[in-house]
Amino acid sequence: MMTAVSFPAAVFDPATCPRLVVKIGSSLLVDGAGSVRTDWLAGVVADIAERRQQGQQVVIVSSGAIALGARRLGLEKGGRASLEDAQAAAAVGQVALAGVWERLLAARGLTAAQVLLTLGDLEDRRRYLNVAATIARLADLGAVPVLNENDTVATTEIRFGDNDRLAARAAQAAGASGVILLSDVDGLYTANPATDPTAQRLSVVKALTPDIMAMATGETRSGMGSGGMAAKLLAARMAGAAGISLAICDGRVDRPLTHFAAAGGGTLFLPPRAAKGRKAWLAGRITVAGTLVVDAGAAAALKRGASLLAAGVRRVDGKFRRGDVVAIMGPAGELLGRGLAGYDADDARAILGLRNEAQGAILGYAPRAALVHADHLVML
Ligand code: GLU
Repeated sequence: MMTAVSFPAAVFDPATCPRLVVKIGSSLLVDGAGSVRTDWLAGVVADIAERRQQGQQVVIVSSGAIALGARRLGLEKGGRASLEDAQAAAAVGQVALAGVWERLLAARGLTAAQVLLTLGDLEDRRRYLNVAATIARLADLGAVPVLNENDTVATTEIRFGDNDRLAARAAQAAGASGVILLSDVDGLYTANPATDPTAQRLSVVKALTPDIMAMATGETRSGMGSGGMAAKLLAARMAGAAGISLAICDGRVDRPLTHFAAAGGGTLFLPPRAAKGRKAWLAGRITVAGTLVVDAGAAAALKRGASLLAAGVRRVDGKFRRGDVVAIMGPAGELLGRGLAGYDADDARAILGLRNEAQGAILGYAPRAALVHADHLVML
């Protein structure tokens, strides 16, 4: 589950990690008065420039738009009192943020490229591939992509809400093999280190077991960002499902990337398995169009790599079309996986529980081999 070995920095070695995503939290980027911590950020940019010289491409995910904009608009609660405030603050703050990145990267001879994304851009397969192609092109052209959520147009239902998960998802799109979340905490602890003296930092986590997931809360230390440790663990799970390592490390030091490579620290989450291509994309989906609840026999068969047959499905929820992404749940309501539906929801409902021979008469056409084919299914 977890080990006490020292931090395997080689995972992030330029030789093994040609493309890296670095996410920078709001509380590191913006000080208590709402100004950019320019000196510290210049150190991060120096780190990035150095890594690029060593042959590593770096994609930045930068928070801070809401915090910066709130100050300029005089909004209370850091601009997070309401969705409208956050959207307005982001519109103002993002301009400033882009300007800071542009200036600091240019001082190192690097070109900044702003990419603003909404959840839908990465949830829709075609748009996802488009984003992937754009990021790859930018990186190949030598520009440094600076990503953020397009908070001004994203509403509650369609938001990532935290840049930790955006970073994990974007890492997939960017073809990166590592993510570093620079944070105001130095990793995952067994308990809250502020109140529990026995709390220990985990240096490596190999599996996100329920015990590990329970160690996190959704609170942020600064109250400035949005996700807290809970969002970081969800990001680690998302990255892991795509075969990407993710590290949470202390960004409160100068030159944090250099410091991290030299001194270690933080918590590294190793990917349990490397799903590829469409399966990795499926594993990282946040939204689904419907749910199939399966019986124990089907759940066991799925775990052995079988397709999902209508005979093993007990309930069909939601409105979906053939080809939409559906969640697959076990009899106790546990999430088993995700897949592309082989049928529209109404047809799926009509044949649930039926063996293949009995389906044709009801559907009025020859049934397909499975409700969700194993090739279009990923177990989580
Ligand atoms: N996208 C938000 C911003 O730029 C930050 C989200 C987060 O806190 O993770 O302000």
